[in-house]
Amino acid sequence: MLAQRYPLVWQKNNFYIKIFCSIPNIATGILIKAGSNLFVVDPGDGILRDLNKEVGTDKILSIPDLFITHGHHDHVGGVWALLTYMRVMNRKAPLSIHYPKGCVEIESIHNAFNKVYSKTLPYKILLKKISKHVNFKSKDVTIRPFPVIHKEYLHDGVTTRQVPSLGYKFTYGGLKICYGGDTAYCETLVQQAKGSDLAIIEAGHDEDTPDEMHMTLNEAKSIGESAKEYFLVHVPE
Ligand SMILES: [Zn+2]
Repeated sequence: MLAQRYPLVWQKNNFYIKIFCSIPNIATGILIKAGSNLFVVDPGDGILRDLNKEVGTDKILSIPDLFITHGHHDHVGGVWALLTYMRVMNRKAPLSIHYPKGCVEIESIHNAFNKVYSKTLPYKILLKKISKHVNFKSKDVTIRPFPVIHKEYLHDGVTTRQVPSLGYKFTYGGLKICYGGDTAYCETLVQQAKGSDLAIIEAGHDEDTPDEMHMTLNEAKSIGESAKEYFLVHVPE
């Protein structure tokens, strides 16, 4: 498989997305601009550096929402840095973190962060646990979380367990961006990606036989092609 070259950028009207990177086991980092509002999806390692370069401090301090697909380190590794930077830079506006119910990583990061900084934190962190897959709004953007299928190996390298995982569809100005996060081939993603203006689909499985963690290149392409445009991401390098 060919590795993607990052960043990947897509824009239509004033709806914009930049995928700084999406490299399995290393880092993901995605910025969405909808008009004047910024949103961050899967703040993996390096997100603070990338955001700082892309939009600068003031804009970072105005980000209303973080969206987390699941708790794997390559999707949440930058959360601590981002929260701490916002504290140091004296953010005032509340920050919402949306994450799937059962995602212990985000709750643990938040607990640890609170333990260290709660007495000196100038802004509120609102943890928004997602258990229902229904539309909600932030600013002028409609967000639809949907469940996907993602598993991980236990220590024996054979047994797997389900990881609480979501994809998100963002609708703004009549345009739809669908991001599946990490997922095996699943019907919810098939439905949500279909007809989207942009689908961002992972192709993280290196072989032709499907598994329950990631998609093969062919599975990812078959979903991507149901959208108007698509990016394949999370391709092993
Ligand atoms: Zn993952």
